[in-house]
Amino acid sequence: MSNNNPWINHNFTIDDKWENNILGMSPPIVNDPILTNIVSNIYSGKRISNEDAVILHDMCDLPTLAIIGNDLKNARHGSHVYYNRNLHVNTTNVCVLACRFCAFRRGPKSNDAYSLSKSDYIEKIQPYSEIITEVHSVGGLHNEWTIDHYEELFRTAKHKFPNISIKALTAVEIKHLSTMSNIPVTEVLIRLKDSGLDVLPGGGAEILDDDIRNIICKGKESSAEYISIHRTAHELGIPSNCTMLFGTIETTKDRINHLEKLRKLQDETGGFQCFVPYPFLADHTRLPEAELASANEILRVIAISRIMLDNIPHIKSYRMNLGDDIATLALLHGADDFDGTVGREEIMHLAGSNAELNHLDVNLTDLIISIGGIPIERNTMYSKFRLFRRDPPDDNMGLPIAYS
Ligand code: SF4
Repeated sequence: MSNNNPWINHNFTIDDKWENNILGMSPPIVNDPILTNIVSNIYSGKRISNEDAVILHDMCDLPTLAIIGNDLKNARHGSHVYYNRNLHVNTTNVCVLACRFCAFRRGPKSNDAYSLSKSDYIEKIQPYSEIITEVHSVGGLHNEWTIDHYEELFRTAKHKFPNISIKALTAVEIKHLSTMSNIPVTEVLIRLKDSGLDVLPGGGAEILDDDIRNIICKGKESSAEYISIHRTAHELGIPSNCTMLFGTIETTKDRINHLEKLRKLQDETGGFQCFVPYPFLADHTRLPEAELASANEILRVIAISRIMLDNIPHIKSYRMNLGDDIATLALLHGADDFDGTVGREEIMHLAGSNAELNHLDVNLTDLIISIGGIPIERNTMYSKFRLFRRDPPDDNMGLPIAYS
């Protein structure tokens, strides 16, 4: 092993018997009999009901929720915290919709509207191509582009950068391409996969309740369509992430129902890799009635997500939206994935995020180490891992380490 190289290949699989680890843990003590019963069920390995999740979300104190979320995360991943080296490249900010929470979209004639050509797309990736393993690309619903444009982008990028995974297009973009190209969603996904798409990022779930969607993002895909597009992707062998935008006008019950819909699909397909909850950021948006989420609430949602989503392995602390401080704290409330190096980001920053963009691996891993985590670089599909360390970790879960 070279002394100058902090990377060590890490050969392991996620512990699929993780539920057994919960049974050996002591539940935190709570003074309310209803909460005691719920907490005891969780530590007995039972799946939480929607009703109990609402009670836990609203009535449990944050330190106790943090212990539960963190215990469940540790049962599954130990002290490991995952991140990747990625780059966000948005394909266009031109969008035919005007979701009220969105600070990113522009009309086609706007002065600052942009639409990346094939060569623009490659030029954006090129400077990072030696240091990233993933490009993350989402954008508006363009008024002219059909699937041909995306096939060309992905095919060219994959040809030029064969080692970079493409995580791209939200469910509503898939639906839009189906309409614009006059082909079924299944065909859109098959053609995109053939041209190089590896994973769907999961954005645009917002809250999976059609009454709420009609107010905050009228015209977007329905809740059932979001689920159906992800189901189709999973059936075609395209894994995806899933998301939740909270802190707009939803109630606790709406959040829990949202999680339940994702949990149900995951029971069917097993195709979700990671759940990414993030709060609404209000700058340059048109949703004054939004209630916004405090730091307390953000951390609560992270913990509840870990508790509810017992079948989705990874819960992301989305740095680009939360900022480094809360994102780091979220790693102690049930999150195990710290997003990536990102490089550039527009969507959250236009809405008010001040998350650091110029992190290198070392900056990210310092944050992970600061809460006692062991930083593990992952690829987009969570199938390859590398351990980042300066000194030998004192806890590797007894997993085999391949020295390089
Ligand atoms: S959230 Fe997406 S679909 Fe909605 S306006 Fe913004 S870019 Fe368009």
